[in-house]
Amino acid sequence: MFATGTATTMTCPQCDAGRLTILRSCGRVRMECGQCRRQFQIHEVAHRLDAQTEAILERWNSIIYD
Ligand SMILES: [Zn+2]
Repeated sequence: MFATGTATTMTCPQCDAGRLTILRSCGRVRMECGQCRRQFQIHEVAHRLDAQTEAILERWNSIIYD
């Protein structure tokens, strides 16, 4: 199964330049930076979540806490 990406307006905690995309695959959710391609688990960026991203994740809240 291919991951599906959902773009967000959040910036990357690592490079501070890229925007994070929410990736869903195999029942897990990760966020990936479009610039440095680093992937983050949700809990790593939880303190930076904006309202829009939180709303997206809320719809998936049964699977994000893996
Ligand atoms: Zn980055």
